[in-house]
Amino acid sequence: MEIEIIAVGGYDEVGRNMTAVRCGKEIVIFDMGLRLDQVMIHEDAEIENMKVPDLIRIRAIPDDTVLNGSEGSVKAIVCSHGHLDHIGALPKLAQRYNAPIIATPYTIELIRQQISAEQKAGANTKLFALKAGQRYTLSQGLTIEFVRTQHSIIDCVMPVLHTPQGAIVYALDFKLDRSPVIGEPPDFARLRQIGKEGVLALIAECTNIGRKGRCPSERLARDLVRDTLTSYEDDKNAIIVTTFSSHISRIKTIAECAHEIGRKPVLLGRSMEKYAVTAEQMKLVSFPETTSVFGNRRTVDRTLRRLMKAGKDKFLPIVTGHQGEPGSILTRMATGDTPYQITAGDKVVFSANVIPNPMNFGQRYMVEARLKLVGARIFDDLHVSGHAYREDHYELIQLLQPQHLVPAHGSMTMTAEYTQFAGEMGYAPHDTVHLLRNGERIRLA
Ligand SMILES: [Zn+2]
Repeated sequence: MEIEIIAVGGYDEVGRNMTAVRCGKEIVIFDMGLRLDQVMIHEDAEIENMKVPDLIRIRAIPDDTVLNGSEGSVKAIVCSHGHLDHIGALPKLAQRYNAPIIATPYTIELIRQQISAEQKAGANTKLFALKAGQRYTLSQGLTIEFVRTQHSIIDCVMPVLHTPQGAIVYALDFKLDRSPVIGEPPDFARLRQIGKEGVLALIAECTNIGRKGRCPSERLARDLVRDTLTSYEDDKNAIIVTTFSSHISRIKTIAECAHEIGRKPVLLGRSMEKYAVTAEQMKLVSFPETTSVFGNRRTVDRTLRRLMKAGKDKFLPIVTGHQGEPGSILTRMATGDTPYQITAGDKVVFSANVIPNPMNFGQRYMVEARLKLVGARIFDDLHVSGHAYREDHYELIQLLQPQHLVPAHGSMTMTAEYTQFAGEMGYAPHDTVHLLRNGERIRLA
């Protein structure tokens, strides 16, 4: 059986991930992601109303026309987790394929919400929830298996495609966290076993390949957040925390720390509501009983007015806006565009890093400058990454012993660095480690 890996999106960039694997006349697609910074630089871009060719032209979604020449039919679209750079293009592209979308239960629920927001787009798309540890038979020769992993969103897996020529492991995105805040550590035993059974190729994310050592556990982020928040147990000023709305483990930590210091956690913002409420309804997380959640702008503003009246020291708002995004709650609070007044001595905690692109640096600078202007105290980077570092990549390769490596989800600098790193482990460029750009393909068998 011929096996070919086709790099569709995310190979020259961070975002809009999409990879196709052709096994004979059958194709399995992994992820269909959105590239948010490309959407944001086109300020007038309204993705909902834009047509596929225009979105491809502005590099917001993967250019799946590269599959047009491929012989074979798509059997499944498999998504590894619920981040937008992995599922965000589904409402635009999925209906072009007569194939089910397979993902974990939480990811499927996020996909369902996203597709229904774009109405008819997903009318005929079949969604199938597959739990970590389970398998799905695609055809006589092909099976999908979900192996549990950790990352910065809950219910993540490494999808493994079992073919007659060996397994193809799709490791986008992952972190080898042995003491996660929610869920179990990655299934190391199963990864080792898959390695023994034979791995034809490992397709691996490489966003943090440039960072030495191993990625610290989410437990360390919990300690960082707790250390800061509990230091202000008797403080009468406001404490406002901002973090990734999809990072359910982190939000749980922040809400629990709020509870510990006698403040009611209040989650604010549309995306905060989406991820947290979905996770709670699915019983994947439980927040302290005193937690409340408000999504739309009117209820957010009404809540903020109530907080001002009742006393800022009784609550701990957890808000969107860690990158200084225009229209986010923190940005609106900082510009005085809500009934909540930030005054001297109030604490603003960023439980997030700045995602390194010039736009984020600029927007974040503006928000911080405005907050400082009114005397707010800033706490930065109470955060650990959700992406594997160099030694995590080493460990994964040791476990899986793959014949071929394909670096994905990274700029050319990152994929090239992964290629060099693989070279140090005995893999040969062009032969067993394959540096692909969007639209390129490699025959492995
Ligand atoms: Zn991710």
